[in-house]
Amino acid sequence: MAGVIRRLDEAVVNRIAAGEVIQRPANAIKEMIENCLDAKSTSIQVVVKEGGLKFIQVQDNGCGIRKEDLDIVCERFTTSKLQKFEDLASISTYGFRGEALASISHVAHVTVTTKTADAKCAFRATYSDGKIKAPPKPCAGNQGTQITVEDLFYNVNTRRKALKNPNEEYAKILEVVSRYAIHNSGISFSVKKQGDTMSDVRTLSNASTVDNIRAIFGNAVSRELIEVGCEDANLAFKMKGYITNANYSVKKCIFLLFINHRLVESAAMRKAIETVYAAYLPKSTHPFLYLSLEIAPQNVDVNVHPTKHEVHFLHEDSILERVQQHVESKLLGSNSSRMYFTQTLLPGADCFSNEVVKSAANSSVVTKGSSDKVYAHQMVRTDSREQKLDAFLQPVNNPLSAGTTEVTAEVEAGPPKGAERPQDAEMEEVSDLVEMVDVQEDAVQPESGHLFPETVPSRKRPREDMDVELEKDDTRQDMTAACTPRRRIINLTSVLTLQEEISSQAHAKLQEMLHEHSFVGCVSPQWALAQYQTKLYLLNTTKLSQELFYQILIYDFANFGVLRLSEPAPLYELSMLALEDPGSGWTEEDGPKEGLAEYIVEFLKKKSEMLKDYFSLEIDEEGNLTGLPLLIDNYVPPLEGLPMFVLRLATEVNWDEEKECFESLSKELAMFYSIRKQYIIEETNPTNSQSEESESGSTTWKWTVEHVLYKAFRTHLLPPKHFAEDGNILQLANLPDLYKVFERC
Ligand code: ADP
Ligand code: MG
Repeated sequence: MAGVIRRLDEAVVNRIAAGEVIQRPANAIKEMIENCLDAKSTSIQVVVKEGGLKFIQVQDNGCGIRKEDLDIVCERFTTSKLQKFEDLASISTYGFRGEALASISHVAHVTVTTKTADAKCAFRATYSDGKIKAPPKPCAGNQGTQITVEDLFYNVNTRRKALKNPNEEYAKILEVVSRYAIHNSGISFSVKKQGDTMSDVRTLSNASTVDNIRAIFGNAVSRELIEVGCEDANLAFKMKGYITNANYSVKKCIFLLFINHRLVESAAMRKAIETVYAAYLPKSTHPFLYLSLEIAPQNVDVNVHPTKHEVHFLHEDSILERVQQHVESKLLGSNSSRMYFTQTLLPGADCFSNEVVKSAANSSVVTKGSSDKVYAHQMVRTDSREQKLDAFLQPVNNPLSAGTTEVTAEVEAGPPKGAERPQDAEMEEVSDLVEMVDVQEDAVQPESGHLFPETVPSRKRPREDMDVELEKDDTRQDMTAACTPRRRIINLTSVLTLQEEISSQAHAKLQEMLHEHSFVGCVSPQWALAQYQTKLYLLNTTKLSQELFYQILIYDFANFGVLRLSEPAPLYELSMLALEDPGSGWTEEDGPKEGLAEYIVEFLKKKSEMLKDYFSLEIDEEGNLTGLPLLIDNYVPPLEGLPMFVLRLATEVNWDEEKECFESLSKELAMFYSIRKQYIIEETNPTNSQSEESESGSTTWKWTVEHVLYKAFRTHLLPPKHFAEDGNILQLANLPDLYKVFERC
């Protein structure tokens, strides 16, 4: 027997449709917030009860609704924003279908209280199933609109049952409101539970986007943000936003995506960007991203989904690719320019000169000139999907770490970035002596970097009052000069001569290579591979880092921060440890070790004033080492080298001549600081972190090599000529040559 086909009751149809638009309280709130924004409000306050299921109130100070319109605001397809279908193509308001309020009124009790600027008083009306229940009543009220939604889904049993957990719903609401708050700086938002005095999300109308990100996601995120922005007239789109740099990572990607100011999700966009980050972040960790895309309205189809959540647009692939490229370039830029440094190392703006560019162009590999034809065999894959060496290797325990004792020393490496990154450093005997580190600042200051002004934005010097100061640095680059202490100008002839010696030895092409290289991977703590143009290089990280630290010591002379040892390390015991090491060359003829050790302590104590003043090497009255110079952020010298360093400080440094003294002392320090075989920091276990946002990527020596040392090599190392000849930088392969080899086969 055939069923009878009946026309569905209109209220039922509307209720079904409503369920599509309003799936949960957070959707209703999103729609209502968009209405507030359409009404040009500058303050939007949300109060909810039981995760919005019992009660939602959204109050704004926008233009209000005219009394005449109150009769029909909750009817379907009534809107003040769209009249003809063609208007859809150029829609600039959030709402346009007149569907939201109607839908809500079909599944809840809605009350609207509103006052326009020119009305004498406010009016209130209640709605049910899209219809006004009684003529609007005059009442008292400020300009703007307050909409309350009670007993959401009271008439949709199944939906009500599916949404049993008010906490979960409340979390969704906080998420939606806080995202709109970040996107709409200049407008204040608040959300709280009914009865609470404190808001759970609250932003101020005079706060910047970064302020809002900080207020909502915390400092850990906000201080690692890079501003992004690009546009393309051909593709008719603009993008801007903030993304975290490679220092920040979390287990779950936080992605705030707005397209034409509408909060949307785009799996394709997420994937495109995450691919870029995969090359920078530790495995299975993710960035924080806030992107706002504006696409010519006629190219966007917002009408594909009832919740307007999914947005499609023309040229999607090309736009994704442009965004991807931009993100990559920004990440790379931040990779090479993050100021781990206390000051610009390289002197003079011109040493990265035409000469370099010329020689690169002459070298007949990838030419930069736009007119020159580039042959396929000259091209190198450098896209973001390229993989690092690690991707091809099985994860194995590092053989170098086997057998050494488990570590205890906790490193609080230099703020700002290091602050959240606990590390387990592996050290042997010294670990009970030295427990690094807290960083303090003494006499320091950046002057604005003149060498790479665009890549060296704000110098980040660890500071005691760092939170306040760095926040300024983070958001306002022009603050750099104003808020940092004076730099000590060094006019000592000896130091200036040493600086000249370094710059005169610099090899321009190697410098260009270091500046532009793509990091391929670590072979060992000592050796790493890097690619530049079509060539693959093997680099001696130990030697390069040693040179780097030497150059920092000379160029930054007398302007270092301090890595403060958490416990003073007795020079006597350090000297004894060193003398017991066969490497010290101690023999019986040198006399008893104890006597020598005492002599070393007394000797170094006498030099302590100079050591502290010029090298931030601090020795206290009792003969303990208390501080070491902070040469680059996020880097702690391999402390097992400390005893030998102390011994050599007393015995190998030429203390008689000024220039020789500074030179040999810096050489000793550089040797001690250089990364070596023994320098292995085991990966920390990221599982026990309390919250997503405070969690940063785990740290390994590989991470340090790539993100601290090679990053510093890019901009702060003037590679001496001899590196090209002595095998410390070795070209392994050149792609065109390889092609030739294969062609013959
Ligand atoms: P749409 O936003 O698609 O037009 P809605 O159902 O969301 O449809 O809203 C219907 C109409 O109600 C809007 O066009 C607008 O005129 C009015 N309205 C809703 N909320 C507000 C508000 N907070 N302030 C002023 N007008 C509002
Ligand atoms: Mg709307």
